[in-house]
Amino acid sequence: MIPGVRYSEAPRCGVCGHRALLTREAAHALVLESFGRLELFTCPYADNGWHVWAPHLESRRVPEPGR
Ligand SMILES: [Zn+2]
Repeated sequence: MIPGVRYSEAPRCGVCGHRALLTREAAHALVLESFGRLELFTCPYADNGWHVWAPHLESRRVPEPGR
């Protein structure tokens, strides 16, 4: 089980393409569960917010500003 906030229940970050806004612990747990397919990064907009993304599947972490 993921400690803290579960991905499906996490609040969404509107400026990052509605990614789940996670704690570092929850994001790290997802990275471990993904066997390296996901990476975590800090949200550039939310304090102490973390996101996960799939660099092999997505071209960029966050949408272009203004979209
Ligand atoms: Zn964000």
